[in-house]
Amino acid sequence: MISKDAVLAWIRTLADVYHENRQYLTELDSPIGDADHGINMDRGFQKVLEKLPGVEDKDIGSILKTVGMTLVSTVGGAGGPLYGTFFMRAGMAIDAKEELSAEDLVTMFQAALDGVIQRGKAELNDKTMVDAITPAVEALREAVSSGASLSEALSKAAAAAEEGMKATIPMLAKKGRASYLGERSIGHQDPGATSSYLLFKTAYETWGQAN
Ligand code: ADP
Ligand code: MG
Repeated sequence: MISKDAVLAWIRTLADVYHENRQYLTELDSPIGDADHGINMDRGFQKVLEKLPGVEDKDIGSILKTVGMTLVSTVGGAGGPLYGTFFMRAGMAIDAKEELSAEDLVTMFQAALDGVIQRGKAELNDKTMVDAITPAVEALREAVSSGASLSEALSKAAAAAEEGMKATIPMLAKKGRASYLGERSIGHQDPGATSSYLLFKTAYETWGQAN
């Protein structure tokens, strides 16, 4: 099981990870975007860190919803509303729980992905974060339903997200700013798929050890 403290630890570590990767994500967003993805993610999660103490004693669903609302209200562009939706839908799916089972995680990340797709209308292979999140959720579900440990399942999800992220390199962007470039978007790794990989990698590193 993943405790509420472990969920809070994941969110705090994510803030560190996006801070450390601020420049990397921004560099990825320069050739095919407007060079702000790292700045956006870092700004959003620093604001989340400020909001966390006020909701730490609430249930996991409320905490995740607060993360989502904070991202929506502090991060502009496409990334903010999409990650905001990701966390708000995750929170709605989990609701008032105080700890999460492996099955809860599958439900939570599937709802988050559904929210991103509903909001952004991206399909697989459009060269977006959806290309990293979709295989991660599928790998997580498969591993959990075949009885893998939570650690194994999260490790598989992170590996699938990494593969999905790398697979965006040869893709032609069909959504977001990168799509304005047409053929010139080919050959560059999608920044949003990269921040999504970091999200699953951090989940594995935070939750995989104790489970
Ligand atoms: P902006 O493009 O507005 O500057 P960011 O740079 O923060 O916003 O985020 C860019 C990322 O958002 C892209 O790399 C892509 O993964 C993701 N993205 C853009 N549009 C969509 C969409 N419609 N659906 C899913 N993801 C999208
Ligand atoms: Mg951008």
